[in-house]
Amino acid sequence: MRWSRTFLPTMKDTPAEAQIASHRYMLRAGMVRQNAAGIYTWLPLGLRVLTKIADIVRDEQARAGANEVLMPTIQSADLWQESGRFDAYGPEMLRFEDRHGRTMLYGPTNEEMITDIFRREVQSYKNLPLNLYHIQWKFRDEVRPRFGVMRGREFLMKDGYSFDVDEASAALAYKKVFISYLRTFRRLGLSAIPMQADTGPIGGDLSHEFLIQAETGESEVFFDSAISSDPAFTEDLTGDAELEAAFDRLTSAYARTDETHDAALFDQQVPTDRRVVSRGVEVGHIFYFGTKYSDALGATVQNAEGKDVAVHMGSYGIGVSRLVGGIIEACHDENGIIWPTEIAPFGVGILNLKVDDADCTAACDRLYAQAQAAGLDPLLDDRDMRPGGKFADMELIGLPWVITIGPRGLNDGMAELKNRKTGEKHDVAIHAVLAKITG
Ligand code: ATP
Ligand code: MG
Repeated sequence: MRWSRTFLPTMKDTPAEAQIASHRYMLRAGMVRQNAAGIYTWLPLGLRVLTKIADIVRDEQARAGANEVLMPTIQSADLWQESGRFDAYGPEMLRFEDRHGRTMLYGPTNEEMITDIFRREVQSYKNLPLNLYHIQWKFRDEVRPRFGVMRGREFLMKDGYSFDVDEASAALAYKKVFISYLRTFRRLGLSAIPMQADTGPIGGDLSHEFLIQAETGESEVFFDSAISSDPAFTEDLTGDAELEAAFDRLTSAYARTDETHDAALFDQQVPTDRRVVSRGVEVGHIFYFGTKYSDALGATVQNAEGKDVAVHMGSYGIGVSRLVGGIIEACHDENGIIWPTEIAPFGVGILNLKVDDADCTAACDRLYAQAQAAGLDPLLDDRDMRPGGKFADMELIGLPWVITIGPRGLNDGMAELKNRKTGEKHDVAIHAVLAKITG
């Protein structure tokens, strides 16, 4: 992409409404614009990152054997009356009427709808286990939408639902998602700690939240620092036995949020030098809730003995749009964002220092074409602006690599290559510069 042809409205000044770094940088880098409290338009730069995160989530869901579907955002109230949650959910759920006076709602979650789909289509244990998910916008009329996309009212969530014939296989399904979430977050450049959670309004027996550490996180977190060095965070697990062992290890170590924290147990279970008390952002949340919805909605399957039994279910959420903010909270400095390579909006920035110099522009255009051919997805800053502003914008939008070409270096066939994360700069021959990035 050429910057001059891209809708990338950066801002120099800090917007007054933004209290935390991620919100400030998302506005300044032209990633989002607010339309109403907690409701945002995603501009090209933000949308690129959001899409990359969703694609990684998708990839890992496929690896874990889940099937992607796409349920609507608008739901009829009927199923929610059946489950009893229409009244139980509270004012966070946006309810309204269509022209025929039928009560509708903008889905805050999809347990009822997926259970309805399941009960119509699946009758036998032979079709299980089954895990269905979608990545879809949700609406929750939060009391205090804040921190930009971190606590929005409209937000993008991956929500998945598992169906099993009995509790034992449902527990295995839960553990598989638990481990696959660690891998998903790792690919996003994050170490998300699983913490024992309250089961809350969705109800049920077993629940974990995944939190990333950030000073501005809304929850207080308490955990054993030994967890972060567990091999499950860095290595792929093979086979159910290895997976179950990792699950047992991670869930028996102490890790809780303020909602479930037990100070006496924390002191007793964790040696002083391993106690971490910090703040965190919830980026994922998983539940096992047994037959809560299948009982309410009559979703049964025939088991191996030919008996009809209520299906056992779990639900599994990842805050896809919240992750954009969460990753920036974890990856930034005083000059701007520092994107992890896998989700960077562009792979490399090419900065033309002097656009009215024909040689310089020709060299940049050539490099740009080569970077495109190499699959590096370059952003060429071809704007007729002072170098200072261009450097500042590049730092702000945080691409992993920036190649700068100016008339002086060009005389010797040289460009400058800068690594955004380490800040290291090197003069490199132009013909060799892309190879430095692709390795
Ligand atoms: P929270 O405790 O932060 O309000 P929740 O427990 O209500 O979240 P879940 O129902 O577990 O949320 O939703 C799954 C995921 O969706 C959460 O882990 C979070 O990452 C994301 N999420 C929830 N609410 C919001 C929101 N208002 N804005 C952005 N993302 C959200
Ligand atoms: Mg939650």
